Amino acid sequence: MRIKLAAGNWKMNGVQASLAEISALSDHTQGPSEVAICPPATLVAAAVAIAGDVAIGGQDCHAKTSGAHTGDISAEMLKDAGAAYVITGHSERREDHSESDADVNAKTQAGWAAGLSVILCIGESLEERESGATLDRMAAQMAASVPDGATGANLVIAYEPIWAIGTGKVPSLDEIAEVHAFIRKTLTDRFGDEGAKMRVLYGGSVKPSNAAEIFAVADVDGALVGGASLKAADFSGIIEALN
Ligand code: 13P
Repeated sequence: MRIKLAAGNWKMNGVQASLAEISALSDHTQGPSEVAICPPATLVAAAVAIAGDVAIGGQDCHAKTSGAHTGDISAEMLKDAGAAYVITGHSERREDHSESDADVNAKTQAGWAAGLSVILCIGESLEERESGATLDRMAAQMAASVPDGATGANLVIAYEPIWAIGTGKVPSLDEIAEVHAFIRKTLTDRFGDEGAKMRVLYGGSVKPSNAAEIFAVADVDGALVGGASLKAADFSGIIEALN
């Protein structure tokens, strides 16, 4: 039985005053689904202090544990601040910081070594979608960026079509079903029973208004939510749709 997960990715948004949005989620954490928020690194420790049942995560980590890497944050530091999760491989990191699948693989292993569960993002570009290359792309990204040693406890996959992020565009439910079924098969082929336990989230323009129909799709175990996770009024609607 996979516990459903509603995870919010605040990206480069949020100041101290924004922590009230996490506190306001407390009325919505009694259901069967798990709730997580990944605020910017500056807020991780403060978020943990007020999070209650909301799990807190980082948005990225360095592959190394410490050293001369100005501006970077290690998985150990996130763990030390009280984080339970770290996102790796978000398309904005892959694009803005030229992160390769090998980088994502190394960061994921660093997250595990620190005792974090990793939400590893994959997803196709619009060009790949339109040329029919989506499933090949997902296979290639998973083969190269998911390390050996993945388990149902330490890995969550987030399928985020790049063209659906922040655009208001969402794949059809059939398209989501096709990709999620493919990801599930790829995980079980490689990891057996553990692959069946890994949660696979959908991400990209999830809103309270479309969450329920997306969550009804087979093999969708929740969502990784950007814009609609910034306000408790929006995110709570998504959590309720999942419960
Ligand atoms: P939006 O929900 O704003 O489309 O962002 C999705 C995302 O990138 C979450 O990681």
